[in-house]
Amino acid sequence: MAKSRLYFASARNTKWLYQDSLPGKFERMLSTFDFERYIKKDEWVAVKIHWGSEGAFRPIRATFIRKTVDRIKAAGADPFITETVRIPGLDYLHVANYNGISQETCGAPLVLADGLYGTDNILVASGPIIGEVAVASVIHDVPAMVVLSHFKGHIQSSFGGALKHISMGGVSARHRAKKGAGRGGMHCLTPDRIAWDKKLCTFCMACVEVCPRKALSIEKKKLRIDENLCWACGRCARVCETGALSDPIDPEDFQRRLIEGAKGVLSTFEKNKIIYVNVMLDIQPECDCMPGADVSIVQDIGILIGDDPVAIDQASLDMVNASAPLPNSLASDLGLKPGGKLLADLHRPDPQFGIDEAVRLGLGSREYEIVKLDEC
Ligand code: SF4
Ligand code: SF4
Repeated sequence: MAKSRLYFASARNTKWLYQDSLPGKFERMLSTFDFERYIKKDEWVAVKIHWGSEGAFRPIRATFIRKTVDRIKAAGADPFITETVRIPGLDYLHVANYNGISQETCGAPLVLADGLYGTDNILVASGPIIGEVAVASVIHDVPAMVVLSHFKGHIQSSFGGALKHISMGGVSARHRAKKGAGRGGMHCLTPDRIAWDKKLCTFCMACVEVCPRKALSIEKKKLRIDENLCWACGRCARVCETGALSDPIDPEDFQRRLIEGAKGVLSTFEKNKIIYVNVMLDIQPECDCMPGADVSIVQDIGILIGDDPVAIDQASLDMVNASAPLPNSLASDLGLKPGGKLLADLHRPDPQFGIDEAVRLGLGSREYEIVKLDEC
């Protein structure tokens, strides 16, 4: 099988010159990469970014977004920065601003891909498990996209990279009529449903506080989930330390749904219309959705660029797994040692399961070759 070519710039900086800095190397990498093969003059191009959250302050830095935007402009196209609603849309626009992602810093307007309420979407066939996914209408309609992913851990999928970003990030928060077609249909086995076990509940209120939709309330020792408000984001289950709240889903089933969602989103693009950039900095153990961010589990690695979401995630995973766990991090707390499968040891399931599933669905190749920037 042909290997997918990826280009790599290391985060190491030993000469203290701009061209040896990661922004300088990224700029060179972008000009070397043949954007003109993927985007046409005057075309609208989405730059897909996760905007982080109020406490998750480690999304991709504006400098890398700006350079991507500038490269798209240099190709004669018209970029905009986009993201799907993770918390109520107006709040999310403010969060982007707090995290340094704005038109002023990044050089292109910010657009909510599924509208202020997270319900602007188009149903697309995805496969036998979910059936249909509600692809954010902007992502559905835009002809070309650069997926700029912060590679890191994730409590449910073990890792977040290009595949997860396309899927969870390309699918809308919820569909107005079809339960289970929104992002919640990937998080939960029963459509958009979080389970509560009263016996395990200490009534600490953490879940009520963390819910971005104000969908939870506790009265007279009974927890109530407003099904009309809940979009099954899973935040509440993640902060529940006793296991009283849970996403009733098997980790491997979650991976299958996630990859099927990615397939649905990718089906809305023609061939050779998406470029992937994986940024391996601040490789923290959790998703940028959560209202907090831990320290990195491994040292900063660098940036990969390519046109195959599977190959870029496989290469990123291999690089993280080959890294030494950092002291004073979750990896060292768990006693993880170099040479193991770091992300698989941190969370279940083994991230390789999701990558293999993506290969099975024909989303790309796990075989890759890496061209280091200085060898371009
Ligand atoms: S976070 Fe868990 S233990 Fe605390 S109130 Fe919610 S369900 Fe109960
Ligand atoms: S899954 Fe939990 S945190 Fe998310 S919207 Fe529903 S109740 Fe709120």
